[in-house]
Amino acid sequence: MGELPPYLFARIDQMKAAKIQSGTDVIDLGVGDPDLPTPPHIVEALCTAAHDPKNHHYPSYAGMDAYRAAVSGWYKKRFGVTLDPGKEVLALMGSKDGIAHIPEAFVNPGDYVLAPSPGYPVYRTSTLFAEGKVYEMPLRQERQFLPDLDAIPADVVRSARLMFLNYPNNPTSAITLPGFFEEAVDFATDHDLIIVHDNAYSEIAYDGYTAPSFLATPGAMEIAVEMHSLSKTYNMTGWRIGMACGNAEILAGLGRVKTNVDSGVFDAVQRAAINALSGPQDCIREACRIYQERRDVLVSGLRELGHSVEPPRATFYVWMKVEDSLQFASRLLDEAGIVVTPGIGFGAGGEGYVRFALTRPSERIREAVDRLREISP
Ligand SMILES: *Cc1c(COP(=O)(O)O)cnc(C)c1O
Repeated sequence: MGELPPYLFARIDQMKAAKIQSGTDVIDLGVGDPDLPTPPHIVEALCTAAHDPKNHHYPSYAGMDAYRAAVSGWYKKRFGVTLDPGKEVLALMGSKDGIAHIPEAFVNPGDYVLAPSPGYPVYRTSTLFAEGKVYEMPLRQERQFLPDLDAIPADVVRSARLMFLNYPNNPTSAITLPGFFEEAVDFATDHDLIIVHDNAYSEIAYDGYTAPSFLATPGAMEIAVEMHSLSKTYNMTGWRIGMACGNAEILAGLGRVKTNVDSGVFDAVQRAAINALSGPQDCIREACRIYQERRDVLVSGLRELGHSVEPPRATFYVWMKVEDSLQFASRLLDEAGIVVTPGIGFGAGGEGYVRFALTRPSERIREAVDRLREISP
């Protein structure tokens, strides 16, 4: 327990609460939770399913056949990836569930896990729960925020069991580049390690960009699983539903851990998720249009204030260079009532940056820019 950092987002919530208590109108561009509602047809499907007593029992551990078939159908249509719904799809209570439990299946005490830094904090903490050691792969701007696999020390690689990757990336908003996934598959194959690709943001993309599945990379099905989720795609963060897809043996290991921890996802939620994955997809386009408008307001505002910042092609984050991430974030909260996430909260590699989330309306983002202008030196 001593090695676990306090979950940064919980601490920011406390600071934010204190600020609100003191009467400040806080603009929260911190946590990555969509402000847009779940599309109505998905909510309707939940209501209908909740009324049906058939859905009131313990769900199956791996997920309903119909849910896994819907995931498989969606992967085929969206990514061109063929998945056997019986063996290559597992229901999750959100992708965090899969990320948090997979090291228990494959990491022995002292084994290394390779995790991007900055990165989603759970890659690190799930490794610590399994008594593994974390090797932080720095994501640097000059390498387009892709890790340098050749720079990982040989002794670390030798005892590494698992590598986490995440593109489109939180928090840097970077996308993968041609050849990188292929390089990662070769690396994992050569060094006998598992790749866990976190694809939570595949649908949040702009300017014509379409994110791939890692599983579409030749050879990936032999060594990888992909964690995915309906959270960001359909504004369903509170519903807790996702999927792990890919290599059947790796999924069996994860499934074995999970049967001993949880008892599956509420069937009514799975029914609603089937509706989301198989129903009309224009809600995603609409959400992306809204995020893109917000992105443009924020990026042009920040640029006017002299910050150097790139408009992201995916995710709903803007990753901006600053001097000292904690100091910058606390100054923004204190002097302007704006919450942003300090990069250091995502690991040592995040120092020198802050993350803005585009999860507030354009008017609020415009107001945030106005407040920034007033406190700018
Ligand atoms: C939001 C997020 C997740 C977790 O989402 P779930 O709601 O658990 O599906 C996983 N990875 C990254 C990088 C995220 O930003």
